[in-house]
Amino acid sequence: MAASPQKSAVPRRKVSRHRGEGQWAAGHFTPLNGNEQFKKDDDGLNVRTRIETIYSQRGFDSIDPNDLRGRMRWWGLYTQRKPGIDGGKTAVLEAEELDDRYFMMRVRIDGGRLTTRQLRVIGEVSQEFARGTADITDRQNVQYHWIRIEDVPEIWNRLEAVGLSTVTACGDTPRVMIGSPVAGIAEDEIVDATPALEEMKRRVLGNKAYSNLPRKFKTAVSGSPLLDVVHEINDVAFVGVRHPEHGPGFDLWVGGGLSTNPRLGVRLGAWVPLEEVPDVYEGVLSIFRDHGYRRLRNRARLKFLVADWGAEKFRRVLEEEYLGRALVDGPAPEQPVQQWRDHVGVHRQRDGRYYVGFAPRVGRVDGTTLTKIADLAEAHGSGRVRTTVEQKMIILDVPETQVNSLVEGLESLDLTVRPSPFRRGTMACTGIEYCKLAIVETKARGSRLIDELERRLPDFDEPITINLNGCPNACARIQVADIGLKGQLVLDDKGEQVEGFQVHLGGALGLQAGLGRKVRGLKVTSEELPDYIERVLRRFQAEREEGER
Ligand code: SF4
Repeated sequence: MAASPQKSAVPRRKVSRHRGEGQWAAGHFTPLNGNEQFKKDDDGLNVRTRIETIYSQRGFDSIDPNDLRGRMRWWGLYTQRKPGIDGGKTAVLEAEELDDRYFMMRVRIDGGRLTTRQLRVIGEVSQEFARGTADITDRQNVQYHWIRIEDVPEIWNRLEAVGLSTVTACGDTPRVMIGSPVAGIAEDEIVDATPALEEMKRRVLGNKAYSNLPRKFKTAVSGSPLLDVVHEINDVAFVGVRHPEHGPGFDLWVGGGLSTNPRLGVRLGAWVPLEEVPDVYEGVLSIFRDHGYRRLRNRARLKFLVADWGAEKFRRVLEEEYLGRALVDGPAPEQPVQQWRDHVGVHRQRDGRYYVGFAPRVGRVDGTTLTKIADLAEAHGSGRVRTTVEQKMIILDVPETQVNSLVEGLESLDLTVRPSPFRRGTMACTGIEYCKLAIVETKARGSRLIDELERRLPDFDEPITINLNGCPNACARIQVADIGLKGQLVLDDKGEQVEGFQVHLGGALGLQAGLGRKVRGLKVTSEELPDYIERVLRRFQAEREEGER
């Protein structure tokens, strides 16, 4: 049955006619803040030439500050946090005092699609230029740390030789396009979105028509009935559905995003066939560029425009001003049959072979391990590997006879195919180790938490998500976790400030998506974390009602 556009749950906010919100479509071309100014001064994509010809030759001190803390993001580069600065200083120090002379570099892996050749190069770059670091992020990317500006051109050469790129991996740009990691192979797939994703990349990446957006723009496309791309928290998302008359296609969502003003995306009630996805994507992206708010950075994501316009107006503007045609009404996606959407474990492909999903700890791997994963994928599969939005990985195309030895090989690298719910469901952002915004440590804490919970609750077998953030931002999606932990300084028993977390409980994605509730006043120190989570989970086990998550 065709559905009508979903009404936004967020009350519409009246836009001041006098000050405006800095939208280009309303004629506001004068930059209204520093970010808009540096973007107007020079396109972020142009910084590449300066990196290649000046900064990499003359070194860190030659970098223009507007490039260093602004435009270099257009090529996936952020300065990392100077080691040894505690979280209490994050908010009080100037940016330059927090800046290390090394960079974080993000490699975009659209759709999480990798060949073993690419994975080997990622591993080699990690070992040669990034002190072995290579984290799998919750948007299917890989992130390096310890990158020197002198090495950046050579890293680009290596990555680009195998079809990888860092272009618009950060910045006010179309970021990595998330895709189902099992696109084209899953037995239960509704529609394979790969051709649409490839066309979207072709149209948008490196295109100066889309390199000055109000803020970042996140995209997700999946034809999997598992809804495996966190579509609810993307600026635009296409989710596989079967239309009763027109067949397989996609349901269109817009305006999701977390961070400090979290909002779930809304459906526009429109069904989009595979071949029209790139046009609709470009239409939504163009609305954001033209109508998105540019005055205040903290109101610049698409979610604020969608909240003000509502789904009905957004769809009308998209149809009338950008597509020049009406979209077909369409159905909502169906409830997935399982709660885990990460593809971990051994699963049959539609061609009779298998894919094997495995769980590193909180996305932390390293160059050596990635190279060994490439070896295993080549020995047991066809050389295709995927990353997931849960900081997990998958090896595709494994014949039945090879499954057991692959599983053994992965387990010997501590990459378990049958993880505990805690290993499987715990994610952590970068945290204080490298992130300049962080207040607390997350990766090592998350890893130790997994060990503790496995020891204390060996029989717990419920899907559970525990997400750790190092600050009030939402890189590890705390608001949509069962247990979301927002890093901040808290007082311990002795009244001293120590690292800890504000607790959010009961968030979820999927068709029962909702934002977790901030448990008022409930803050735990990092040390107390295993005790607290054990108490919550034991109580949940004791008091839960039938079917309750
Ligand atoms: Fe950094 Fe905060 Fe994002 Fe963690 S959530 S990576 S600490 S900005």
